[in-house]
Amino acid sequence: METPGQRLGNTYEKCVFAPAIFLPSRPANRGELESSEEFPVGLLPVQSSESADDQGKKQNRTRERWRMQREAATLLPNHRVRQCGRTVVDKKRNVEVFLSIDSGRAFFGNVKCCGSLWECPVCAARITEKKRKELRQGLDAWSITGGQVFMLTLTIPHHYGNDTRELCDQLLAAHKKMQNRTFWRGWRKAIGLQGSVRALEVTYGKNGAHVHCHILLFCVANGETLRPSADALVPAWISACKSVGLPEPNMHGVDIQDGSYAASYVGKWGLDCELTKSHIKRGIQGGFTAWDLLRASADGDQDAGRKFQDHSRAFFNRRQLVWSKGLRKLLGLEDEKSDQVLAQESTETAKEIASIDFSDWKRVLRYDARASVLIISENSGRKGLATFLQTLAGFDSSQFRNRIRRI
Ligand SMILES: [Zn+2]
Repeated sequence: METPGQRLGNTYEKCVFAPAIFLPSRPANRGELESSEEFPVGLLPVQSSESADDQGKKQNRTRERWRMQREAATLLPNHRVRQCGRTVVDKKRNVEVFLSIDSGRAFFGNVKCCGSLWECPVCAARITEKKRKELRQGLDAWSITGGQVFMLTLTIPHHYGNDTRELCDQLLAAHKKMQNRTFWRGWRKAIGLQGSVRALEVTYGKNGAHVHCHILLFCVANGETLRPSADALVPAWISACKSVGLPEPNMHGVDIQDGSYAASYVGKWGLDCELTKSHIKRGIQGGFTAWDLLRASADGDQDAGRKFQDHSRAFFNRRQLVWSKGLRKLLGLEDEKSDQVLAQESTETAKEIASIDFSDWKRVLRYDARASVLIISENSGRKGLATFLQTLAGFDSSQFRNRIRRI
């Protein structure tokens, strides 16, 4: 079967990547340990009110997230993600394990947190959920005032071999250019535009990186304003793209959907999810997300790994969401926090259920058992975790004995 790396074509042969020399050599059973049936699962009495099926899915998501995070750390050894959830902050204290009273979720304390939305699946899950809730709050507040929200999508022509970072720069420059033109100022007034939120998104396909923007337009609806139409905006978008050196987009370069667009999604997926969580959604419209590349890389697809490194270079330090000036205040939202703060701060009521000393923590890292520690903490609490750590230590010494025997 074709892997994502093969399907997207290998355009990265000439790239030079730093070797992942910082990671300890992987134990032969590295991947097996976290997914082993007999190892952690044997320690997992089901105590939650969730169904076994829901609990299983949640555990799989946790394992998958940490597996991808480990892969990102391997692929980007000089980035903050390398230390995330791994390096101890205060060496005089143990690593702490907290349990949220609200959600029942376990998380680590006293370990570094990278706050990298584009590179770290663990931090991205935290950051995007907080951004999503805030956006939902803003959308609800706007809806109460009787205002309308439209989603404008701007895309640009792209082809295999384009430089992703350059493509991103050009897309954002074209958007800025369009907003600074006389047409936009008139159009803005005509549709009653009060503010906007711009989200940057990318998927990878046969034609390379598909970088695009989703922009929520917060408009007043008072009978005098016009419904925004894509047809009216197409010439302005074409002109802006040409001004920044992009090829001319066709009429599909602009799309506008109204609020009912959210209802067209199955389940809870709405405008708030579309703007904040698209990059972590699996397989959008046949394209691959950055996380799809990570998964494939973790499964041994080296070309997908190189493409993820390219993705990291293209999106490093970019903002996912940009709120127009004054909109947050208009919607009654607090000042915007940085991704780093969102990833680090805990808004949940949580209790510390255990602490892991340095030697146990080293062992947890050596066997890539962070996901197991969290899952066991959620299901079996302090006692279950203590048993698990003892089992790990026993596993460690049995490996040691085997090594001695081989010598
Ligand atoms: Zn992180």
